Amino acid sequence: MQIQKNVSLASFSTMRLGGKAAFLVEISSEEELLEAIKYSKEYKLPTHVIGSGSNSVFSAKGYNGLVIVNAVDGIEETVGEDGLLLSVGAGVNWDRLVEYTVEKGYSDIALLSLIPGTTGAAPVQNIGAYGQQVSDSVISVRAYDSKSGDFVTLSKDECMFSYRHSRFNTVDKSRFIITSVKMRFSRRSESAPFYADVATYFEVHNINQESVSPANLREAVSTVRVIKLPDPSTVANCGSFFKNPVVSADVFNQLQANFPELKSHQTDDGNLKLYGAQLIDLCGLKDFHDSSTGMATWKNQALVLINESAKSTDDLISFKEKVVQAVEEKFGITLIQEPEFIELV
Ligand SMILES: Cc1cc2nc3c(=O)[nH]c(=O)nc-3n(C[C@H](O)[C@H](O)[C@H](O)COP(=O)(O)OP(=O)(O)OC[C@H]3O[C@@H](n4cnc5c(N)ncnc54)[C@H](O)[C@@H]3O)c2cc1C
Repeated sequence: MQIQKNVSLASFSTMRLGGKAAFLVEISSEEELLEAIKYSKEYKLPTHVIGSGSNSVFSAKGYNGLVIVNAVDGIEETVGEDGLLLSVGAGVNWDRLVEYTVEKGYSDIALLSLIPGTTGAAPVQNIGAYGQQVSDSVISVRAYDSKSGDFVTLSKDECMFSYRHSRFNTVDKSRFIITSVKMRFSRRSESAPFYADVATYFEVHNINQESVSPANLREAVSTVRVIKLPDPSTVANCGSFFKNPVVSADVFNQLQANFPELKSHQTDDGNLKLYGAQLIDLCGLKDFHDSSTGMATWKNQALVLINESAKSTDDLISFKEKVVQAVEEKFGITLIQEPEFIELV
């Protein structure tokens, strides 16, 4: 384990922006994590843990503390009567895990193919796509608890999962450092209904939607995602930069009177979720390249902001504000940022 000093954080966020971390360490085991924590206590440094930075935007001013990059590797396997049990290191690339389970013939997380990031970050925002979410497969999470100073095992219920939330990004934000996730896989296929893009893929490829194999699910989602979303390894981005806004039925009706083309879908509590991408698109900002900031919106999904030649996070913030302001002026709706903004000066 090597503590580095004055490290540019741009290479630790898929947006490829950010100032410097005063200290940064990559840990590959629980022992190394304990060493890093000891160091932070000795020098009274605040800590911030990351995986691969695909949902993290660092301030241009950097982080005046210790950034811990969780790279705990390893997949331990047990095959039981009720399926495949895996204990997965927090640093394992999420899509590598999906591929592993698909190759073993399980469909439980196949629809979560190609989501960037690490397995340790997956429970934090309870990652999800196309109707599947990681919490459906989690048995427990092992983590260092900064409150007690011990490692703990949190059952699925104790993780308090909900839609894109868990205790790790709400009531106990920054309290736990996840080192491994125990998951169970038992499903061998999935059946209709599927999300429209995925269903279309099956129709075009003559795949029977009553029993779709894990390999076909992965292939469908990968194909759809590659068309829709930029690959962070070649185009700097953090996925959807804004959450889809939720409005009441009254507000939606007023909006629709002026903008009949507005699409929505009903949420469980009777409100309506709008498509942020459509709002940005209707402002004429889809595939919008802004030379003054070096930022742009993605051509196939306007909710994704991409860094083409931005010089600092301040450029990203200026560009984001342009988009937010345009949507506010046209629709009276304020878009809320999705990726976490990290700053400590
Ligand atoms: C192109 C693109 C597409 C995306 N599509 C989706 C999608 O379809 N669905 C979806 O849900 N998300 C999506 N995302 C968001 C992103 O993939 C997830 O948020 C992912 O889980 C982030 O993983 P990471 O390792 O990069 O996390 P980071 O950005 O490194 O960290 C994210 C948060 O988790 C915390 N964290 C990270 N590791 C740990 C740990 N070991 N212990 C405790 N806390 C930790 C961090 O402190 C931070 O708060 C997408 C992102 C991109 C760039």
